[in-house]
Amino acid sequence: MAQIQPDSRVFVAGHAGLVGSAIVRRLRSERFTTILTATREQLDLRDQAAVNYWFKANRPEYVFLVAGTVGGIWANSTRPAEFIYDNMLIHATVVHAAHLYGVAKLLYLGSSCIYPRECPQPIREEYLLTGPLEPTNEPYAVAKIAGIKLCQAYRRQYGCHFISAMPTNLYGPGDNFDPRSSHVIAALMRRFHEARVNGVDQVTVWGTGTPRREFLHVDDLADACLFLMRGYDAELHVNVGTGQDQTIGELAALVRDIVHPGAEIVLDPGKPDGAPRKLLDVSRLHAMGWCHKVGLRDGVADTYRWFCEHLGELRRENGVVA
Ligand code: GDP
Repeated sequence: MAQIQPDSRVFVAGHAGLVGSAIVRRLRSERFTTILTATREQLDLRDQAAVNYWFKANRPEYVFLVAGTVGGIWANSTRPAEFIYDNMLIHATVVHAAHLYGVAKLLYLGSSCIYPRECPQPIREEYLLTGPLEPTNEPYAVAKIAGIKLCQAYRRQYGCHFISAMPTNLYGPGDNFDPRSSHVIAALMRRFHEARVNGVDQVTVWGTGTPRREFLHVDDLADACLFLMRGYDAELHVNVGTGQDQTIGELAALVRDIVHPGAEIVLDPGKPDGAPRKLLDVSRLHAMGWCHKVGLRDGVADTYRWFCEHLGELRRENGVVA
């Protein structure tokens, strides 16, 4: 089978998002010459005819399918229709076009929320579809599971080299800092930052502080995606994480120490906790020879540096108080 090379035509579907922008950065650093992207205005990925036309015109050879409507626990709970509709369509149109136009290999990115809420921990790939999902993000999870099954079905019926990776909770430069849709690290970073700037010494953290989460820096994920694109070609999806987790309370203290040392953390148990724990078993990926490099403290500090360097844009786009 052909291998992805720096002169391959590579489509990053979702290049403007947290993951897509990290993959583009990574491909650029490896001197890829033909990185194909399309903005939402140029291409509505929910429109099969438009996606087919785009594939016919641009002829990508490799596809990173990392596009989708995404968000944290609040956005998932309040916009379930968008989360299931947009994602089901985006996955289906891109996978189908990749088959129609002979893409050599496609990597589809899922999410750790595909696993049952009460899963044994750490979560092995085989636990998919063994129990009920976490209700706060069930519509999104159903769409993500459909994406995995799409890749498997096209592999079985048409022999397509379509693979899937399931990352744990992500963070890093380029994250979404809008409190209505952000994930916990970006949300807390902004809240601690704004409290410091406004001279406020108490900062709210949603939920009980007891749920446990695993976090992966997005540059590590981009590295893993390229690693799998180069070396993995089988039906089973592959977990991507660090294999380490901590409580939301511990995470909040870590963000506090970097952004607003000395601030007091106030829990708001009126906000949802979501799944009690989501720790991936990453032994399959470790056995292939991949391991993450960025520790959580360094990763959060790196993300906060990025946040401070982009305050102008964040103020304009998200109303961040600088
Ligand atoms: P999840 O892994 O799908 O639940 O994604 P999130 O990143 O949205 O939330 C992870 C955990 O962080 C949940 O237990 C939330 O209740 C908790 N959390 C604490 N403060 C915040 C916050 O300000 N925003 C978000 N999104 N989550 C928070």
